[in-house]
Amino acid sequence: RQMKIGFIGLGNMGGPMAANLAKAGHDVTGFDMADVTIAGVKMAGSAAEAAKGADVVITMLPNGQILRAVAADIIPAMDKGATFVDCSTVDVDSARAVAQQAEEAGLLAVDAPVSGGTGGASGGTLTFMAGGSDAAFAKAKPLFDIMGQKAVHCGAAGAGQSAKICNNMILGVTMIATCEAFALADKLGLDRQKMFDVVSTSSGYSWTMNAYCPAPGVGPQSPADNDYKPGFAADLMLKDLRLSQQAAESADADTPMGALAQALYAQFVENEDGKGMDFSAMLPRFEKRGHS
Ligand code: NAD
Repeated sequence: RQMKIGFIGLGNMGGPMAANLAKAGHDVTGFDMADVTIAGVKMAGSAAEAAKGADVVITMLPNGQILRAVAADIIPAMDKGATFVDCSTVDVDSARAVAQQAEEAGLLAVDAPVSGGTGGASGGTLTFMAGGSDAAFAKAKPLFDIMGQKAVHCGAAGAGQSAKICNNMILGVTMIATCEAFALADKLGLDRQKMFDVVSTSSGYSWTMNAYCPAPGVGPQSPADNDYKPGFAADLMLKDLRLSQQAAESADADTPMGALAQALYAQFVENEDGKGMDFSAMLPRFEKRGHS
């Protein structure tokens, strides 16, 4: 069935996601602060206008503060019974607060952050991790199936964001471990290709080694082969590690490796040359800063 969809936040991720919904035959009205055009998507003059009369409103915004501001505009504009799906990566508290406001206004709400990056967004192969009621998830699922290849209903409101930040804490920690091991291997005179051949089929293997190898010319194509242009930017990794540490703090969880990864990415992005680089550029960072 064709649905009327409002899509707010048409950036690197939201743009291609909205285009895929339009391509699948849905009636998509978009809004972004920036002046953008997306194939097949009608543009509205405000977020509230894009949300008005929609069966489903999807947001794909930079952070929790912006999500809260946009939610305050669109929730009152939406029809009762409509579904509000936030796909941004935000803090668990913002996700829960926005879901509660939506439900109090008679809407269904889902937090559904994604993994898969801009390639997954344009290819329609994202993974969605969702939090919310069964009814809300069921409403959003056909749209997840267009924009992605997998959608996991993780639990109640906030559960999608919880899964996302736990995943990305592992990702940040593992990337650092992979990069420092390559830098050590260099110092030990070990060939990088041999290092890859061994580790990618031994117990040190991981997504960062096998699918997104930080060493140029080794393993499958990755941002390392493109001068470390993102890909997944180091400052977005830092954002996600801050979210996991913030969540750990408020849930009283002990995450020492996550804390260290956050500190290293903060140093890299804020005091070194990591801003604008892919998060795998930790490898040249370790090379440059080794003791000689
Ligand atoms: P982006 O900066 O390219 O897009 C965000 C868009 O939101 C921009 O176009 C911006 O103009 C718009 N925007 C900001 N404030 C707005 C407002 N008040 N009203 C309307 N539009 C507004 O970022 P992105 O890469 O598309 O990421 C979006 C979200 O997805 C982030 O939460 C990010 O953490 C998450 N994410 C990104 C990736 C990735 O690889 N880029 C992967 C997974 C998740």
